[in-house]
Amino acid sequence: MPSTSTASVEGFGDHCFKGAVAKKYLSKYGETDKLLTDVSWPSQPGKADIVAKAVLDWAVDNGASVYCHWFQPMASSGVRHGLSAQVHQTMFEFDKDGKPFFKFTGEALLQGETDGSSYPNGGMRATHRAGGYLSIDPLSPIFLREDTVFIPAAFVSYNGDALDEKTPLHRAVEAMSKEGTRLLKLLGYEVDGLINNIGLEQEIFLVPRHAFYRRPDLQFTGRTIMGKASARGQEMSDHYMAPISRATTAFDCMRQIQMECFKVGIPLKTRHREVAPNQYEFAPLFGNVINQTDQNLMVMQIIEEVASENGLAALLQEKPFAGINGSGKHNNWSIGTTDGVNLLNPKQINAASKNAEIFPIIMAAIVSAIDKHGDLMRLAIASPGNDFRLGAMEAPPAVISTYLGDDMTNYLMAFMDSGNVEAYVPSKKKLAFGANSISEIEVPAEDRNRTSPFPYGGARFEFRAAGSSQNVSLINTVLNTITAEAFAIVADRIEAGETPTAVAQDLLKAHSKVIFNGNGYDPEWPDTAVEKGIWRIDSGVEAIKKFTDSKNTELFEKMGVFTPRECEARRAILLDHYIGTVEMEALTMVDMINQHVIPSCKKAELGFVKKLEDAVKTLTKAVDEMHAAADEAEAASLARVLRLDTMIKIREVCDEAEGLCPPSLWTLASYSELLFLDTYPEGDLLL
Ligand code: ADP
Ligand code: MG
Repeated sequence: MPSTSTASVEGFGDHCFKGAVAKKYLSKYGETDKLLTDVSWPSQPGKADIVAKAVLDWAVDNGASVYCHWFQPMASSGVRHGLSAQVHQTMFEFDKDGKPFFKFTGEALLQGETDGSSYPNGGMRATHRAGGYLSIDPLSPIFLREDTVFIPAAFVSYNGDALDEKTPLHRAVEAMSKEGTRLLKLLGYEVDGLINNIGLEQEIFLVPRHAFYRRPDLQFTGRTIMGKASARGQEMSDHYMAPISRATTAFDCMRQIQMECFKVGIPLKTRHREVAPNQYEFAPLFGNVINQTDQNLMVMQIIEEVASENGLAALLQEKPFAGINGSGKHNNWSIGTTDGVNLLNPKQINAASKNAEIFPIIMAAIVSAIDKHGDLMRLAIASPGNDFRLGAMEAPPAVISTYLGDDMTNYLMAFMDSGNVEAYVPSKKKLAFGANSISEIEVPAEDRNRTSPFPYGGARFEFRAAGSSQNVSLINTVLNTITAEAFAIVADRIEAGETPTAVAQDLLKAHSKVIFNGNGYDPEWPDTAVEKGIWRIDSGVEAIKKFTDSKNTELFEKMGVFTPRECEARRAILLDHYIGTVEMEALTMVDMINQHVIPSCKKAELGFVKKLEDAVKTLTKAVDEMHAAADEAEAASLARVLRLDTMIKIREVCDEAEGLCPPSLWTLASYSELLFLDTYPEGDLLL
């Protein structure tokens, strides 16, 4: 419907307990929202009771009578709806006559316990000791949806082993802050602490829901395991940034998604169509990594909910369709001081610190971290769906390099060679449009590079290979840990007597090989990268196995992020997640062949039946072999072959049959039905 009323930003954040909203309710108890900005409030005597009372008043005013601790079990990407876990409790108790009265205590607010026997734990908790413990996360505000108050929380075992995605992220940010603050102090710049900011660009597909219901593979696994390409794909890139028009429900759906996000204080600023048919993107204003990660999980959940209410199904998986682009989640990453100076923005850091040496030292440290620990960056993006994206000319290859642009590279190389420190000032250029009526504009002299997995873009790095369905905690846990180590190394060497410049020069000499400003999609690049000694791990499964390499367990332990035991457990869980994903896909394929493809082929008298029956046997045998494997590592390697080799070959048979079968006899929804909202109005198909 066209807008008929005045636009308004009223109501933004009303369902998020911070700022003016929190102030209004806390003031009744003699506090202000400032209380919540000091992360130590949960341990200050009496404060939790005050916050709990204010939260209860706010909840009741907004129709909520239930609360939960909201947390993030490991390895949920692509499997668990909302990627989070929660047990709802009422915010009222019962008097002796059984009559309910509202009550919510500080204790209930701060911590919880859950019978956690069925969350993945990688052997860190036995069923007979199944308690999982929750503690409030003061960096992520409490929010409210429908009748429920959500209290973001971290989740550990009885022994304090991290059982979630959030706890290690906190540890890694704290390590980065500690080592970065120490380094900056040695460079004459005293700061209270550092934070990590991220902004996540979320890509998704929206497909007609009735067609989704005719795809067991989409329903169970999030991706099409078979499906003949439609005659029209993304050849013309005509979907890219095209109008989000009222011709389909996508417009209303996107608008409602934003409105729901605004209510809970999620600043979802950007929306547009992406390059593949029916592919869309949202991006928020960036912010603190802890809060942004939580908000992204909620964005994904809201997308799924609102899509279903608009006759659509949202697909968050990385590669729902073969032959057209998959979906990523660019993880824009920067680090800054707690008072808002971005260390990756040369102008800001030079002005605030009055020391031009700091910026090249920070950059040298980050370059060294990427070069040393590209394996961990690769591991962090090894979500099963990324198997089909990386290196396929739609996402960067499985080589971890960084693009700095010629301007910045020349500056750093001059610094490396001469040791002369000059302030880095990014050059700009005038851009003319060749028509007098259109004014010239000023742009950065450096163009963008979309083929690098980790390009620098003036004030931030952009990890472009992250998968759309991922919880980005592990990604940022890795980025902050490797940066923390690099900062610590520089600081240690300065403390041992070297000059800061000499250390940075040395790091650049050893590690600038990881800077690659060329075309990452060039088929020759991966081999060249290997020759140069840059991390290249094509297989996500092999990348996951690196979690327990001694280089990595030592790094995580030294930085206080994961104990070796936690590394072992995460490796096992990530491999199990992969194996489970592939098993579901293979079994879904078996059912689809038996229940759909073979009957269709028989009805249409197409042949293929023998081939298909053999395919089912092959699939079943491969799944049995996975079950019989000696350990997760072996099973995951078998799963990868099954998925990327066996299943792809079998798919070709199914797709050939589909191409010959009359649509009236083909019982699965086709790519044409799924991918062209603009051509197949969903209302008509429902008739
Ligand atoms: P693009 O043109 O790269 O697609 P978008 O506007 O879609 O840009 O997304 C860029 C994302 O990067 C946004 O979420 C934005 O808030 C975020 N971002 C911008 N600056 C920073 C920064 N300094 N640190 C972290 N994230 C940032
Ligand atoms: Mg974008």
